[in-house]
Amino acid sequence: MRRPNLLITGTPGVGKTTLGKEIAARTDLTYINVGDLAKAGTLYEGFDEEYECPILDEDRVIDEIEDKMSNGGVIVDYHSCDFFPERWFDIVFVLRTENSFLYDRLESRGYKGKKLQDNIQCEIFQTAYEEAMSSYKEEIVHQLSSNTPEDMERNLDQIIQWIEQWIKDNN
Ligand code: ADP
Ligand code: MG
Repeated sequence: MRRPNLLITGTPGVGKTTLGKEIAARTDLTYINVGDLAKAGTLYEGFDEEYECPILDEDRVIDEIEDKMSNGGVIVDYHSCDFFPERWFDIVFVLRTENSFLYDRLESRGYKGKKLQDNIQCEIFQTAYEEAMSSYKEEIVHQLSSNTPEDMERNLDQIIQWIEQWIKDNN
């Protein structure tokens, strides 16, 4: 049976991981958190001194998950998306969160100073959305509000319905 590949992207704190894991729990799709995968395999190619974080080795990440992607049925969670092969994804969701909510979430995650400000600014400038729109066909890119638990539930229901419909249409 063919199953779709989904990308969930957006600024840190918008709810990608919560949503992605919940979709996986309610379907038979496999969830991949690219940040965790990179950490587990130290798939890095350097260190960004300014942001004090390792730099992702994008080619090794792609090699690592290519086989799974070609089988289908994968949910990929990452805050950036322009380096993934375009052919991987059947649909792309960009989660969006208003500043006041996002600020509180990032602060409680321990973000402060420049890192906090930069992430809020990315959300204001809709960096993730524009990256997705320039990397994938516009018609497969969808923005979803992720401000409240009700938003989370609604998004979850809609995505699960979409997956079920895709499976019907493609098998
Ligand atoms: P990301 O993976 O995009 O960084 P997370 O899924 O880790 O985001 O969510 C960050 C925090 O925000 C978590 O504490 C989560 O419970 C909360 N959160 C995420 N989405 C929502 C939402 N729609 N409504 C309320 N809280 C949310
Ligand atoms: Mg996450």
